[in-house]
Amino acid sequence: MSESLNPFTNAQQQLDSAAEKLGLDAATHELLRWPMQELKVTMPVKMDDGSTRIFHGFRVAHNTARGPAKGGLRWHPDETIDTVRALATWMTWKTAVVDLPLGGGKGGVICNPKAFSMAEKERLARAYMRAVVRVLGSARDVPAPDVYTTPQIMAWMLDEYETLTGAKQPGVITGKPLPLGGSPGREDATGRGGVYVLREAAKAFNIDLNGATMAIQGLGNVGKYGALLAESILGLKIIAAADETGGVYNSKGLEAQKLVDHVAMHGGVAGFADGDALTNEELFAVEATVLVPAALENVITEKNADTLRCKLCLELANGPSTPEADQILEEKGIAVIPDFLANAGGVTVSYFEQVQNAYNFYWTLKEVQSRLDEQMTKAFRGVFEMHQREQVNMRKAAYLVSVARVAEACKLRGWV
Ligand code: NAD
Repeated sequence: MSESLNPFTNAQQQLDSAAEKLGLDAATHELLRWPMQELKVTMPVKMDDGSTRIFHGFRVAHNTARGPAKGGLRWHPDETIDTVRALATWMTWKTAVVDLPLGGGKGGVICNPKAFSMAEKERLARAYMRAVVRVLGSARDVPAPDVYTTPQIMAWMLDEYETLTGAKQPGVITGKPLPLGGSPGREDATGRGGVYVLREAAKAFNIDLNGATMAIQGLGNVGKYGALLAESILGLKIIAAADETGGVYNSKGLEAQKLVDHVAMHGGVAGFADGDALTNEELFAVEATVLVPAALENVITEKNADTLRCKLCLELANGPSTPEADQILEEKGIAVIPDFLANAGGVTVSYFEQVQNAYNFYWTLKEVQSRLDEQMTKAFRGVFEMHQREQVNMRKAAYLVSVARVAEACKLRGWV
């Protein structure tokens, strides 16, 4: 992986620039550059054909000064320790920017789950839990779904955890199915939170959403609800969408529900009939009011940043833009709503799920959604205020808010 595409190097670079602006002391800065704990695990798993395959996985806690580590578990063939480190670091900033009493963590397994049967997925989920159980717990580190992991995978992991520890502890994992202590509203929370932030951003940056258009990459959990809710809550017209399988463009609009149904039936966007085929590269150059990367990291780089023709980029994926690309987007006058603010809706409702688990008392969907709206709106306004006060771009403003909060907690604990 080249250094500029190493997400952890990018995460460290982003912190360095905030640390300089905040005048952080050397020890605090160095502490925040590194995860405080990393666990590498090797897991033998029996496959359906009788063979045994060896899988490699990670669980990283970046910083726990503000509370237990919190962050998803990704299953992906390209997973590396540096991807997990970067994602854990961004979780620290994400929980801080929405002011949750949590730290940042992340997990990953190098694998291609698309090639697995359900039974193989279950055995891998349980093997992973057995391997990392010693560092998890509702007061230590709490996983959730991320790319290619699902509520069903969370359910198997919860069951394995409770079997190993002999007690019911639903708060050890979030994004669970509802009958096992999941929260209403968790499934669409990341996309919904992003749409609430988009509503606020449009007001703040004077972007008229009347007749506005959207191009989106990724129609998984995050992108699917991002598209559906941008259409239904804000009235946006989705004109382009792409994923791993290909893309589609129609200037008259793609009906979001139809597109989502097509993805569910055919495994991806490719072949959607109501438009022209489009590549992922072309998607980023589509003229649209809002561009939404909602798939993987490093998709907007110095190579394609100049081709973007949107007014606002809502980063629902983690780490979609490199620092070099960021600079180009700023020069082009594109408002970038940074990942750890735009996609914080998921962890916010995960936190609500933990609170409900702790009380063993559950909220209504309406309560969850209105609390989510309140939290996301407040977080956006805090970052926007910083952006105006310090005359820095929105990513830097979000870093200034988060890093200052985490640094203060580290100091109060006497760590630095
Ligand atoms: P998902 O597995 O549900 O969906 C992944 C999507 O990315 C799919 O549409 C897939 O086709 C697409 N994709 C994968 N590889 C691609 C490639 N090479 N080119 C184009 N498209 C590709 O995952 P998700 O949960 O929707 O996560 C998407 C992003 O959002 C990730 O960056 C994740 O870290 C971030 N995120 C997720 C959550 C959450 O609650 N699930 C919360 C915050 C951030």
